[in-house]
Amino acid sequence: MANYQAPRGTYDCSYEDAFRMEEIVDLLKSLARVYGYAPIYTPTFESTALFARSAGEDSDIVTKEMYNFTDKSGRDMCLRPEFTAGVMRAIVTEKLYATRDLPLKLYYFGSAFRYERPQAGRYREFRQFGIENVGVSSPYSDAETVLFGYHALELLGFSNVVLKINSIGDKESRDLYRSALREFFTDKIDGMCEDCRRRLELNPLRILDCKVKEDRAIISGAPKMGDYLNEKSKKYFQSVLSILDEEGIDYQVDPSLVRGLDYYSHTVFEFHCIGDSGANLGAICGGGHYDHLLEDVGGPELSSVGLAFGIERLNLLKENDDRLSELDVYAISMNEENTGEVFSLVQNLRLNGFRAEMTFGKKSLSSALKVALRKKARFALIVGEEEIQKDTVQVKNLSTHAQEEVNIGEIVDYLDREIGKEQEE
Ligand code: AMP
Repeated sequence: MANYQAPRGTYDCSYEDAFRMEEIVDLLKSLARVYGYAPIYTPTFESTALFARSAGEDSDIVTKEMYNFTDKSGRDMCLRPEFTAGVMRAIVTEKLYATRDLPLKLYYFGSAFRYERPQAGRYREFRQFGIENVGVSSPYSDAETVLFGYHALELLGFSNVVLKINSIGDKESRDLYRSALREFFTDKIDGMCEDCRRRLELNPLRILDCKVKEDRAIISGAPKMGDYLNEKSKKYFQSVLSILDEEGIDYQVDPSLVRGLDYYSHTVFEFHCIGDSGANLGAICGGGHYDHLLEDVGGPELSSVGLAFGIERLNLLKENDDRLSELDVYAISMNEENTGEVFSLVQNLRLNGFRAEMTFGKKSLSSALKVALRKKARFALIVGEEEIQKDTVQVKNLSTHAQEEVNIGEIVDYLDREIGKEQEE
């Protein structure tokens, strides 16, 4: 028999893990709507050229990490390594910039693919949830995007969140800084990694992203972006920071933060979080401001700002969080003859919005209660011959163990009341 495995760098996810993941994504989606975002769906694969153009020909994503393939008609395609370029392409294809009010505020969720070395929190297929705010260049839009990230992590219950923020300025500032970096690294580059040698020629800013330990020591002495920002860029960054101050948000200005994609300008940021177990999975969310991406993919020049959460990293950090209940009600029929009555009761509860499930087949009360506990049901409804005669059910609260007899006609109100009470606590 063949022994099939999930491909390297991918994983299977079900039950608790998948429930937690869905809760995270549901919360992010509903918060995005609170901030005025609308959903967008784009293809999982696009032409390779789209990403080469947007992320940068020499970026790690394009040079090493893309899943490219030639389709049966000879087109060079790839699985999306990120969403922003596809969203910009869709805005142009659908002319959303002309038919909808600006800014366009869009959110997405789905898989992205990067051929990276798998490790904790790094996969080859991973999920991102992100927002893009397209069409307004304002420190308020940048700050609002950061605030969304902060707000989301707060609602998701993350403590010890660290927000790292930096400005990589406008093009003029970046050109000046690139020259300064080139000058600084020229006589050191022979002792650095092969990637850095290539980066020095193509885009020395990327050297700052290098993860090689020996190179990091050299990089720490490099000139800082902040010293090369022109007045306009400085003022813009100061405005973003003062809005964050005004909203009481803590941040660390990190002069070495440049982010791996080519299209950013002005504000860039990342959120980091140390898990309960001490795990540090790197950035759980990254984003920034970009000015030319829409134009690069054939649209008008409109400034934008966006962020993306890595859903697996959020999920891993919440691994110990098992508050989740799969079911509101687990109904237990004490004898098989009453299966029909219990089936109707369960269906009625579902029609009233309760997550309800029941035992089938012969099971002792104690083993059925164990199933209810394993499913993390809030209540067990126990129905025996006596209850059928009286038109009642025994309702057992599985966390307090309190048990009450409730009339069938009142069960919906009863559960509503009890679940409401639990949620208030
Ligand atoms: P990026 O598009 O590189 O800015 O990534 C945005 C977020 O996606 C990061 O902050 C991570 O949380 C997550 N992420 C990026 N690459 C991976 C990966 N290979 N596996 C899991 N999550 C990732």
